[in-house]
Amino acid sequence: MPQYLLALDQGTTSSRAILFDTNGHTAGTDQQEFRQIFPSPGHVEHDPEEIWSSQLTVARNVLKNSQVHADSIAAIGITNQRETIVLWERETGKTIGNAIVWQSRISHKICDRLKEEGLEPVIREKTGLLLDPYFSGTKLTWLLENDSDLKSRAEKGDILCGTIDSFLIWKLTGGKSHLTDVSNASRTLLFDINTMQWSDELLEIFGIPRAMLPDVVDSSGVIAETSPEIFGRSIPIAGVAGDQQAATFGQICFEPGMAKNTYGTGCFMLMNIGNKPRVSENGLLTTVGWRINGETVYCLEGSIFIAGAVIQWLRDGLEIISSAEQTEALARSVDDTGGVYFVPAFVGLGAPYWDAQARGLIIGLTRGTNQAHITRAALESIAYQTYDVLDAMKRDSGIELAELRVDGGATANNFLMQFQADILQTAVHRPTIQETTALGAAYLAGLGVGVWQSEAEIAEKWILDQEFKPQLPKEQSDALLTDWHRAVKRSQGWQE
Ligand code: ADP
Repeated sequence: MPQYLLALDQGTTSSRAILFDTNGHTAGTDQQEFRQIFPSPGHVEHDPEEIWSSQLTVARNVLKNSQVHADSIAAIGITNQRETIVLWERETGKTIGNAIVWQSRISHKICDRLKEEGLEPVIREKTGLLLDPYFSGTKLTWLLENDSDLKSRAEKGDILCGTIDSFLIWKLTGGKSHLTDVSNASRTLLFDINTMQWSDELLEIFGIPRAMLPDVVDSSGVIAETSPEIFGRSIPIAGVAGDQQAATFGQICFEPGMAKNTYGTGCFMLMNIGNKPRVSENGLLTTVGWRINGETVYCLEGSIFIAGAVIQWLRDGLEIISSAEQTEALARSVDDTGGVYFVPAFVGLGAPYWDAQARGLIIGLTRGTNQAHITRAALESIAYQTYDVLDAMKRDSGIELAELRVDGGATANNFLMQFQADILQTAVHRPTIQETTALGAAYLAGLGVGVWQSEAEIAEKWILDQEFKPQLPKEQSDALLTDWHRAVKRSQGWQE
């Protein structure tokens, strides 16, 4: 009987289910969007029941549409939007309020307060993260501080919390298992990535009762079974990882120094740094990649807020293009940007600058500047920002990058990929499969139940679609970078 892995990819705007065969090929897929709720400026919520019902629907649909019976599913792998937090009642399973989404800035005052108390260094040392509302910890603090009844119920163990992986596992097991994997735990601000345990000191700082938290498990290996009524029979849940970590696994970045970059709305870059955590000195995060058979792999992570979004802005804001696809030919229609640099700091700058006051600029304009130059400068800005993050990773890890593995919507742009290789002076490798996030979850699950015996066996499944080798002489890419950095300086600290 053929065997399949079912990946549940619970994202920020949609729930997806993808069926993979044992060659790692896609055998079926389904997707459903759900509501984004904006209760106040800067605050974003999801209805957890919608998350669950959409995820369940697509999982069932993909089996039905592919005519694959639950008996043929060797295991389920879960990957999810990270940092988003849900509360529910232990007894009834009923969710309490909405999920607070990673994008929400609702807890920024709590972060400021803890910073004023001088707590950021200890938090950074233990978690590898920054004291920012992005992570789950202060979102939980905010929920508990806004309802005193909740806190006392949580202390008694009546209220549970979890990131989306944890919530889905709870639902899939009919309330039997309250678990999370190490990669998701490492995004909460409550988990000590050195000891690989919830930290009592951090729980104290954030005011979180230990009784609320899930048990932490490996990212691969059977951790639970789905309750039989969900798919008609029990299926092992054998792989769990946050979306970016799953994508890193799906890109087979198994060796220290291997890195992937996902080019979507923003960019998410992760580099495997091996079995020891290392706190970044260059504004990056340290995060748990995955843990398999008790062995932890750590990653450095850097995110860029505006990447593909700059192309959306050219289309919808500036209206100088009508589609993202058009940008490749337009950029190639000129030899260079004519000295134009575009720093898309629309919402400030992320790693390695962390400048919330920076704002976007287009500089070097002359009478000769036209739409093609600006479009080209916008595409190049994606590559320059990637360079800056990778450069920080190199400095932190001391590792020279051998290649950059890429995925995400904007990697369809061959001009961008070539320019990326030129600026990095490093080969850029785009695989045939772009579903790296779901694939990573499927790989973790397959490995967990022995569909695949080893990472080496999985690594063979990574197939190159196209390699982009550096063609520009290094002196020229250095000169471009010098001017890029001059432009970045001018964008910084703008908003007073
Ligand atoms: P997300 O998962 O963040 O929604 P996707 O991986 O779907 O992102 O990628 C979509 C992004 O990629 C959009 O911001 C879009 O502007 C950009 N994009 C898509 N195609 C191209 C292209 N050919 N050239 C440049 N950017 C592109």
